[in-house]
Amino acid sequence: MPIKTGKDYIESLNKRRIRVYLFGEEVKNPVEHPIIRPSVNAAAVTYDIAHDPQYQELSTAKSHVIGEKINRFNHIHQSIEDLIKKVKLLRVLGQKTGTCFQRCVGWDAINTLSSVTYEIDQKLGTQYYERFLNFLKYIQENDLFCCGAMTDPKGDRSLPPSQQPDPDLYLRIIEKGEGGIVVRGAKVHITGAVNSHEIIVMPTRTMTEKDKSYAVSFAVPSDTDGLIYVYGRQSCDTRKLEEGRMDLGNVKYSGQEAMVIFDDVFVPWERVFMAEEYEFTLPLVERFAAYHRQSYGGCKTGVGDVLIGATATIAEYNGIEKAAHIRDKIVEMNHLNETLYACGIACSAEGYKTPSGTYQVNILLANICKHNVTRFPYEIVRLAEDVAGGLIATAPSEKDLRSPEIGRYIQKYLKGVNDVPTEHRLRIFRLIENISMGLGAVGYRTESMHGAGSPQAQRIMIERMVDINFKKKLAKALAGIE
Ligand code: SF4
Ligand code: FE
Repeated sequence: MPIKTGKDYIESLNKRRIRVYLFGEEVKNPVEHPIIRPSVNAAAVTYDIAHDPQYQELSTAKSHVIGEKINRFNHIHQSIEDLIKKVKLLRVLGQKTGTCFQRCVGWDAINTLSSVTYEIDQKLGTQYYERFLNFLKYIQENDLFCCGAMTDPKGDRSLPPSQQPDPDLYLRIIEKGEGGIVVRGAKVHITGAVNSHEIIVMPTRTMTEKDKSYAVSFAVPSDTDGLIYVYGRQSCDTRKLEEGRMDLGNVKYSGQEAMVIFDDVFVPWERVFMAEEYEFTLPLVERFAAYHRQSYGGCKTGVGDVLIGATATIAEYNGIEKAAHIRDKIVEMNHLNETLYACGIACSAEGYKTPSGTYQVNILLANICKHNVTRFPYEIVRLAEDVAGGLIATAPSEKDLRSPEIGRYIQKYLKGVNDVPTEHRLRIFRLIENISMGLGAVGYRTESMHGAGSPQAQRIMIERMVDINFKKKLAKALAGIE
């Protein structure tokens, strides 16, 4: 099966019959819906890049299970080099789309499951790994888009899943039968769910024996009976319904998050990768989180490159690009952005081989990477807003610019340097608005905080993984304390 193009991918989405709701109404054709389409376009770039001769090394790989060249998004990391290529690929895609292209969560899910299912089988004599490999072959052969669904609604955060007044606030097994299991619950903030072929479900936290029915992982086609998608709103999303593209800022692409409801969904055993083996929820959650925290060292630096480029451009359009303080602010933005990239590369370079053969990133360094991502993009955005000026929040609309009555005033009074058209200046303001606080914030600013886990989740991991007694010993030895 050849690697799909973006066009093949979009056509294949039309063959699904998925139940999607937006503004309280069912969307008959999600792919063509103006609010959804830019996110489909962004996901399609992950397919087109596998055909771009310039990026073959990064965007494709040789499968260790089917032996053929595949899209790297369905590859299981077989070396440190694979881990590093992942970060580089995500950076390039962030640069090309300026938003979230959505396909990495499923990629991180398959890599996690490849090592965890192997280890469950080794310890308990189950057959999860073989099932997983069959699933892997299927998605590689058909070049499918997998969505990773981890976050549960969680209800009262002080209570474990089984103690919640409503037991469905974490996704759980409600029935186990000969043919498979039935699951109920919901997953929230699910990246690219509506644009996917397969939904891979994982538990959102470590489970104890009391919560074992919540220790469940499986994959189902995205148009399985009982699945309902509720599309997430984005700031300024109705601008996509307007005539003209300029006010979107990013004229082609956007990210996508949706709520996925599992209204008693049947999953056949061959698609189940964990069912009640609660002691393996710890490595599953830890490894998945680490992979996705590594991912942010790639995609967010790529989007950061776009924002830095927009900031340098607006400085030029405003006639201030030579001012020493402006140049220094651009240097600072680059310093912060490259620090994030360095963290992504570092946690990859210090990766290790798990018993299944899959390479895992260094978990401590991946958490450091994401923890910096919860801070630096905020500073990068602050500097972009500082350099650009208030028009990113106050500029008139494209319709005003094109108005036969008042358009000439907009042209005249919002002009910067003489040789740059006013429209170009407004377009860059809109792009900065998009990434820092508008439509694109879902793929950059706010996502930097909560995507792949909120800051406290990383601090817990840092405390757990750092050997503080070793550091105390170092200090005592040098201070002459026995
Ligand atoms: Fe990929 Fe980044 Fe989007 Fe996560 S946030 S799916 S890593 S582009
Ligand atoms: Fe994300």
